[in-house]
Formats: sequence, structure tokens, C-alpha cells
Amino acid sequence: MLNIDEIQNGVVIDHIKAGMSHTLADVAGLYSLDCGVAMIKNVRSTKSGKKDIIKIEGDTSSINFGVLAYIDPEITINHIKNGKIIKKEKPVLPDTLVNVMRCKNPRCITSIEHECDHIFKFTQSGKYRCVYCEEEFNRLK
Ligand SMILES: [Zn+2]
Repeated sequence: MLNIDEIQNGVVIDHIKAGMSHTLADVAGLYSLDCGVAMIKNVRSTKSGKKDIIKIEGDTSSINFGVLAYIDPEITINHIKNGKIIKKEKPVLPDTLVNVMRCKNPRCITSIEHECDHIFKFTQSGKYRCVYCEEEFNRLK
């Protein structure tokens, strides 16, 4: 397990709702990364009672942090360089997500044509919808 002090270059995702770190890591594709990833669950927090923290050591340039705001808008992304926090940011929702999450509609073209990109657009209703079948992405699944 990585210690927060041991991260020299990477990202610490803080203030994650307790129990959500697995979902966030899955959606952000952290399991397929070549980086060191540590999840710390149920950390005591003065602000929210309990929280999860994810630490990623290494090159994080390929990670889409914006999508995480859809799952948990309260998170903070801390960018670490040479052992110091150089930037703290709240993730911003991207307008379009390509191959980040999959459409769950069995009748959707993306379920039939496996070469098809999974594209979701952020709509006025505040939700992501599949561009092919308009199926809404459910953040809790
Ligand atoms: Zn679809």
C-alpha cells in the first residue's frame, strides 16, 4: 500500500464518498493503467464522516478525470509533483465521453456491433445519454 507521503509524482483523488472508490477507479480505467494505484477506504474525515482516497503514482496524463465528476461531484483532484501538491482541482464534466462507459441497452447498436465506439453526450437534463439510442448512463451501476 502506498503512503500519501511516498507519492512523488502522480495524483491523489480526495474526498471520495465512502465506498465509491472502486466505481471511480473502474470508470476512470485505473485498473488497466501501468501506474501504482492505492485505494484507501473509510478514512475518517472531519467534513463528511468517512471518505475514500485513491492515490496514483506515475504518468496520469491519459486519465479522464472529468468523468469522475459525474459519479461523485464532491471529489478533489490533487496533482503531486516532486512530493508536493502543485494543483488542486474539482473535475469538470466533459461534453462527450468516448469509450469511457458502455451503453447497457441490449438493443443498442453498440451492443450488436462490437466495433462501434461507445459515445455519450451530456444533455440539458444533466445526464449522459448514448448518442445512438439515447439510453441514460446510470452512475450507480
Ligand atoms: Zn446505446
